[in-house]
Amino acid sequence: MSLIKLDNVSKFYKSGDGVSVGMRKISTEFNLGEFVAVTGESGSGKSTLLNVISGLDSYEDGEIYIQNEETSHYTNRDWELYRAKYIGFIFQSYNIIDSYSVYQNVMLALEIQNYPRHLRKQRALELIEKVGLKSHIHHKAAKLSGGQKQRAVIARALAKDCPIIVADEPTGNLDSESSKQIIDLLHEVSKEKLVVIVTHDFDQVKQYATRKIKMHDGEVVEDKVLKKTEAPQAPEQPTLKVMTVPSVIKFSLRNLFTTPRRTFFFLLFQIVIMTVFTFAYTFLMDQARNNLFGDGYTGGNSNYFEFYTDWTTDNRFYVLRKDNQTMTASDYNALSALQGGNHYVYKDFTYIDINNFSNLQVYADDSTFQLYNFKLDTTYSISNTPQFIIEGRMPEEQNEIVVSNMFQNINVGDEIDFFGNRRVYLEKPAQIVGDNITFEYTNEDNYHEIKIKFKDGSYSRIEGNFYEKFSIPQFTGRAASDVEEFSVYVERYINDYQRLVVVGKYNDNNKGVLYLSHDFLDSPFLGNGFMIAARTQVQAERIFDSIDKNIYRVVYPELDKGTIQSLFGPINFIVSLIFYALVFFFALFMYFILYTVVRNIMQARKKDFAIFRSIGANQSKLGWLVIFEQLIVMMISFAIAMIILSSISYSNFVVNKLLSILTMTDYMIIFLTFTYLTLWLARRFNKRTFKFSIIENIQESKEETL
Ligand code: ADP
Ligand code: MG
Repeated sequence: MSLIKLDNVSKFYKSGDGVSVGMRKISTEFNLGEFVAVTGESGSGKSTLLNVISGLDSYEDGEIYIQNEETSHYTNRDWELYRAKYIGFIFQSYNIIDSYSVYQNVMLALEIQNYPRHLRKQRALELIEKVGLKSHIHHKAAKLSGGQKQRAVIARALAKDCPIIVADEPTGNLDSESSKQIIDLLHEVSKEKLVVIVTHDFDQVKQYATRKIKMHDGEVVEDKVLKKTEAPQAPEQPTLKVMTVPSVIKFSLRNLFTTPRRTFFFLLFQIVIMTVFTFAYTFLMDQARNNLFGDGYTGGNSNYFEFYTDWTTDNRFYVLRKDNQTMTASDYNALSALQGGNHYVYKDFTYIDINNFSNLQVYADDSTFQLYNFKLDTTYSISNTPQFIIEGRMPEEQNEIVVSNMFQNINVGDEIDFFGNRRVYLEKPAQIVGDNITFEYTNEDNYHEIKIKFKDGSYSRIEGNFYEKFSIPQFTGRAASDVEEFSVYVERYINDYQRLVVVGKYNDNNKGVLYLSHDFLDSPFLGNGFMIAARTQVQAERIFDSIDKNIYRVVYPELDKGTIQSLFGPINFIVSLIFYALVFFFALFMYFILYTVVRNIMQARKKDFAIFRSIGANQSKLGWLVIFEQLIVMMISFAIAMIILSSISYSNFVVNKLLSILTMTDYMIIFLTFTYLTLWLARRFNKRTFKFSIIENIQESKEETL
């Protein structure tokens, strides 16, 4: 039984319109122990023969038997297995992975075939010593001379421990001294193996060759046994060893580390893309959300809060009970416990949206001026970003405030006179006398609100100015004896005056806000309405969403919250899908740029992969290698991009505000988008690489490196 037997094998190349003959009707056999020299002029088909018998290239006609097994039905995978089990290949152009050291190149072969882990290192050292490269063991392959590279390749081929070594003009690029060393080496390792060596200089191998094959024009014109070899013994079926998944991951990492410049470029490029993308995403989402939520103040919600939108900030809203009962401690606890963001419940909202600010004056250096166009907020909402205090500090006392950088005329140390009519809402002692509810009346009472619960369970709530008595039959149409419970509230305006000291200036990008101290606003008394202040608008919206609207009436002046609630209504859902699609296509576009830019880099890697494959790595594992590599780069880039973004956002208010709209879900979406695109890119590359045969890849990359 022969190891390899060719029966009328032909190979044609389609080039352009014509077909050229690689080899024609070749019938021959190869056996273990042989040292076959293949000679012939250039273009005679030597390489073709070698590539075909080593399964690197396909054949069209005839049959090749490997240990008596037909191969015409072989699939790519079968050839892959054949190469992995049988072939050690040495090319003329010393196919070595330039970015790896000698040691790593040899280890590669051991790892690919999953050579016993504890013996690998020793085996690699032995082989390297054998080919005389001990002194260059950790040199990068790119830095070796031609002869040294070829010796490293031989060590690598030997590491495979396979029965067949094929060498295509291994000395073609070498001086005669190196050539001799290579041939000696090949001879030395050839015992019990089949060595097929192509050379146009037969004299070089004459000394060792056991057989000479001469080719001409694709045909064998001479096939002569020079030395008798031992009777060909039946070779054992070599066993296949496969690369393990940890090895694949290790290779991915190694590939990244051995090509630092390439990795750096990849990282840099992806970081830029991710940063730009995150901004674009944020911007689009901001747009989307504004579109969806709409803008504007539904003042009609409440005739109780008569504030102007100009005075409110986007992170605050107001809460009342729907049944018009006064707020209680349990309301306070319920609202404080809401999930969705950092927020604080102010028990008496009236301080911060006092109706009349006409008297708000600043005293500085004896000159007085009034403040117009400002908003009020609480320092609670900026306490998380103290880095934007550009002058002074956060308040420590009740009467200290911080002002926006918009107020150029206000300096730290100035004083602000805070006048306003604070509207309060008080319950009055009252009783039923005859048909009337009576109570005490003063000139300060603005208007009354009478609430009555009748014995049949119905309610009446009537507003108006009733002076000191309210006639039950006249206003409700019911008898006084039907009343079970009742209460009388009165609204009053109280002039409020505070002198506040400016202790800090806050760079809020000229929003024009006066930040009243948290302590100042934090009233110990329960008011009739609460104010909820969140750190950001997004958090405020989320808290808003989690409030039970059956119990509470919520007024959010900055936004028309009715629209937010219908966010997941069908139209809004479609709108948001469109925005997501827009974002996705943007990412795709960025990746196309990335793809075009990196294609050339990846092209150079095709040679590396061809080498991996020629050593016996299987295609799907190599595919995974590329995927892992790209995923690792993607994840590192993502982490760095996020670090960059948060440091920009730490020092820049606008970016800080912009990015604050991103939620965990958004980050997940961004991450998954890049994961998807990375896989897509890697798969695209894999497809392009593996659709070509090894030989085509090697030839292609050779052309490109020229
Ligand atoms: P050698 O190695 O003896 O120089 P080859 O086996 O490389 O010869 O080539 C044999 C013949 O096949 C030549 O005529 C060559 O032009 C042709 N040939 C080899 N490779 C290709 C290819 N990829 N496409 C088209 N023709 C090819
Ligand atoms: Mg050739």
